[in-house]
Amino acid sequence: CNKVPVLLEASRTMITGSTGFIGHFVAEACLDRGLPTYLLVRPSPDSPSKAATIRFLQNKGATIIHGSIKDQKLMEKVLKEYKIEVVISTIGGNSILDQLVLVEAIKAVGTVKRFLPSEFGHDVDRANPVEPGLRMYNEKRRVRRAVEGSGIPYTFICCNSIAAWPYHYNAHPADLLPPLDEFLIYGDGTVKAYFVAGSDIGKFTVKAMNDVRTLNKAVHFRPPNNLLNINELASLWEKKIGRTLPRIIMTEDDLLTATKELPIPASIVASFTHDIFIKGCQITYSLDKPSDVDVCSLYPEAPFQSIDRCFDDFIQKILDAAKVTSKATGKDGILVTTPKPEPPVI
Ligand code: NDP
Repeated sequence: CNKVPVLLEASRTMITGSTGFIGHFVAEACLDRGLPTYLLVRPSPDSPSKAATIRFLQNKGATIIHGSIKDQKLMEKVLKEYKIEVVISTIGGNSILDQLVLVEAIKAVGTVKRFLPSEFGHDVDRANPVEPGLRMYNEKRRVRRAVEGSGIPYTFICCNSIAAWPYHYNAHPADLLPPLDEFLIYGDGTVKAYFVAGSDIGKFTVKAMNDVRTLNKAVHFRPPNNLLNINELASLWEKKIGRTLPRIIMTEDDLLTATKELPIPASIVASFTHDIFIKGCQITYSLDKPSDVDVCSLYPEAPFQSIDRCFDDFIQKILDAAKVTSKATGKDGILVTTPKPEPPVI
């Protein structure tokens, strides 16, 4: 716990998936840390938001490389030419198996000192969601076994939930603001989970990737102050908006129905919601394997952003969006409603 982290010199780091939800946090953290950062970007149809992300990261100093991880020859060439030492993959849930080609390329080149495959959630060897989430976990497990079998030095990042209101139908929960009309409470709302700010997912991933203590380990993000159940999240949000909201119970059966009836990816998220808030998949095990590392014990001096602070940021977004703060708040608290997608009918 008190050991000093041994850092390698600034590693040349390649990130795949930096235009994505989790990837942009990781890329930004790499650049903020001053690492030589190379972003593998697929040439894609015009997307203003992706173009803006790439420009933002380029302005911070990133080098853009065009290509897909499905092209093994190209990957080998890129890894050699740019002398890449660390590869971080934040490939999305529907492309997990594309990483098998990347693993082959890294193995063939033989010079990468650390590979972080696209995990960024639960420990997939422990959590066992119902379908269709299970299928993604099986794919992530397959990639784990390929990485372990390849001899490539690796680190698996198990960062638990991104800090936001946990909508059961939204794969990118931090893209939506917490509710202003009513809460959906899963089960009795007492099962706890760890909520980690996106910027902290980036920051601690980048800290861990060069640390000798995380070599061939699973790094678990379990900040004790960010362990909350959904009733506590709701009460905290009510405090922020200055009023109470109705609480609608979504039972275990309702969630299981959602896993069967919603389209993908909403049904996948519903199965993770069931695993987290009904089965308690983040809290029902202790870190007792030799391959487990708790990120808080690695960096006891580095604080995690609190949920309280994350919710303050959401309030600011609401006020900014309303652009009429005098009308947005009143003696009855925050009154504006923000646009949000309709929840799918179950
Ligand atoms: P996104 O779908 O938002 O982004 C995926 C990224 O991967 C995009 O940049 C995409 O590029 C890129 N990509 C996909 N295929 C290829 C390829 N063949 N070659 C190069 N780039 C490719 O992903 P998420 O951020 O949602 O998911 C990333 C990881 O984080 C997943 O493992 C997911 O399970 C996890 N996650 C965890 C959450 C949590 O709360 N802990 C929440 C959400 C995700 P392009 O722009 O070209 O499409």
